[in-house]
Order: sequence, then C-alpha cells, then structure tokens
Amino acid sequence: MSNILIIGEHDGQTLNLATAKCVRCAQAIGGEIDIVLFGSGIESIAAEAAALASVRKVIAVNADHLATPLAANWAPEVVALAGDYSHVLGPSTTLGRDLMPRIAALLGVNQVSDIMEVSAPNLFKRPIYAGNAIVDVQCAEDQKIVATVRAASWQAVDNSGSGSVEQRTATGTPVAHSRYVGLEAGGGERPDLQSASRVVSGGRALGSPENFELIYHLADRLGAGVGASRAAVDAGYCPNDMQVGQTGKIIAPDLYLAFGISGAIQHITGIKDAGTIVAINKDSEAPIFEVSDIGLVGDLFKVIPEMEALLG
Ligand SMILES: Cc1cc2nc3c(=O)[nH]c(=O)nc-3n(C[C@H](O)[C@H](O)[C@H](O)COP(=O)(O)OP(=O)(O)OC[C@H]3O[C@@H](n4cnc5c(N)ncnc54)[C@H](O)[C@@H]3O)c2cc1C
Repeated sequence: MSNILIIGEHDGQTLNLATAKCVRCAQAIGGEIDIVLFGSGIESIAAEAAALASVRKVIAVNADHLATPLAANWAPEVVALAGDYSHVLGPSTTLGRDLMPRIAALLGVNQVSDIMEVSAPNLFKRPIYAGNAIVDVQCAEDQKIVATVRAASWQAVDNSGSGSVEQRTATGTPVAHSRYVGLEAGGGERPDLQSASRVVSGGRALGSPENFELIYHLADRLGAGVGASRAAVDAGYCPNDMQVGQTGKIIAPDLYLAFGISGAIQHITGIKDAGTIVAINKDSEAPIFEVSDIGLVGDLFKVIPEMEALLG
C-alpha cells in the first residue's frame, strides 16, 4: 500500500484549494495520506488540512524561516520526512513548480509532472504539447515518486475528514544563498485566479491598461477572478501573474468569460477544464468560438456596459 505525503500550500491564513485537489489525486493512488505544512502560527491551517477527507495526519513543521515559501528552505525539510513515504505530491501551482523539482533532485529521482489521471500507483497520465497529446508516465516499482498534480484535473475533496495534527520542529537552518524578498500579486482582494469559480479575462483587444479597467470592474461585479491572454500581458495592460494558458496558469473555473481573446491553442490549453466558456469577440470566425459553450459576436466595448446594466 502507498504512503503519500502532500505538501500543503497556504498563504499564512488559509489553505489553498490546490491542496484539497492533491488529496483527491492521492485518493486515486490509494493508501495513507498525510499533509505537511510549513510556517509559524499555522494551527488553524493545520486544523483545516486535517479536516480534508481521507487525511490521516497533518505534520505541522514550525519555524520562522519556513513561514515564507522559499523552496531552498522547504525542500530539505521535505526530504527529511520523505523516508517514510512512497509518494511526495505537490500542486502544479507556482509554489509546486518551484519546490517539487528541488525535492526530486535532492532525492535523486526524476519528477513526474502534471498528473491528470492515475492509472496505477506508479503509472500516470499527463498532457504534453499544450494539451494536444496525453502520455503515460511509468515509474519503476521501487522508486520513490515525486510529482506535481495538475490541479485543474481534480475536484477538491470535502471537509469530512478527522485527521490528527502532529507538531514538529524544523530539522534545518535557513539557507544563506537565497532569501525571500517579498510577494507582489496583482488582483488585490479579488478571488485567486487559480481557485476562483468565475473568471473574467481580457485580451489584446482591450488596447490599453485604462481599458483593461473594464475587465476588473465587471469581475468585481461578478465576484470573479481576473485573467488575461499573453498578448494583453505582453502589451502591459495587466500584470503577468494574470496570464492564462500554456505559459501562464492552467485554470478550471465553473465560468470563464473571454473578452477580445482570439483563442490561440496556447490560451485554450489553460481553460480546457473550465465548466462553461463564454466568448465575446467581434470576429465570428475567431477560433475561440470552436471551444466556447456560449459565443457572442460583438464589440466588447458595447457588450461589457450592457452586461453591467443587466446586473443592475
Ligand atoms: C510558446 C508560446 C507560448 C504561449 N503561451 C501563451 C499563454 O500561456 N497564454 C496566451 O494567452 N497566449 C500564449 N501564447 C500566445 C498565443 O499564441 C497568442 O498570441 C495570444 O494568446 C493572443 O492573445 P489575444 O487573443 O489577446 O490576441 P489576438 O490573437 O490578437 O486576438 C485578439 C482578438 O480580439 C478580437 N477583437 C478585437 N477588437 C475587439 C472588440 N472591440 N471586441 C471584441 N473582440 C475584439 C479580435 O477579433 C481577435 O480575435 C503563447 C505563444 C507561444 C508561441
């Protein structure tokens, strides 16, 4: 039977939804599931993690230098715990993509990336070529598996669990060669793009940062997160952490509204798992209409005010 350790992601206040999605992936692998959390003053987050369905135990490693997600500090702590586990999983978020390869390297194994399906405890499916092909990745039976979980492919587990919480102290000391400078995130109080149930996204057609305010405004009316195409990001209309797609974020909101986005394959790969895709584009031939559930041929500068008027 597998013993699975999941690296819990949090912002110091609450657990990121991606952790509950990793638990769902761990359920598919089968076996005992533990979560490790790093930080200081993380009692309430540990309780949140322990309540996730199927979680046996939460290991809360407390240390001031672990309070910020610096992979160079976290990875050796994970490696110190990894001996007891057959699998070490992390989300394919910015944190996981930074941390998990470092853990894999320290353990001397290749990382399995972006698990979207589990065929067997050592056999996984993952997308390649912007999601145009799916490959099977098989690990040796006796190999420790270090992997990232493609959050968009998994439903979060519910809070019906009753795991225990074990407090531990850090085994290492802060590294000298790297230090955490700060976090700059766009979006302010808006829902996090990767876990928002609704996302409003804008493309090159917005034309300027001032016009992109229309997207922010509509998103706020809908309680939605904000996304963008790479063209909008490259043109400086919005910060690059809003980019959706192959080289941006892979998201799976219930509702995705795309304004003035053509639907390039690299963008579509980021929204394949969205529930309902609504596209607004003035070109009826735009490729985004091939993947949208609802398509509206029109000028976004007219459509957005009309939508806002309908919202009252
Ligand atoms: C290796 C690689 C990785 C990439 N990764 C990503 C990625 O992660 N994410 C990503 O998004 N792109 C990515 N791209 C870029 C991608 O190929 C496209 O260039 C980009 O997505 C286009 O952005 P866009 O749809 O905003 O712009 P455009 O393709 O220029 O489309 C603008 C659309 O707006 C419509 N429009 C114009 N005016 C209006 C109006 N007034 N009202 C309504 N509609 C209007 C037009 O009809 C058009 O369809 C990548 C490219 C490469 C090569």
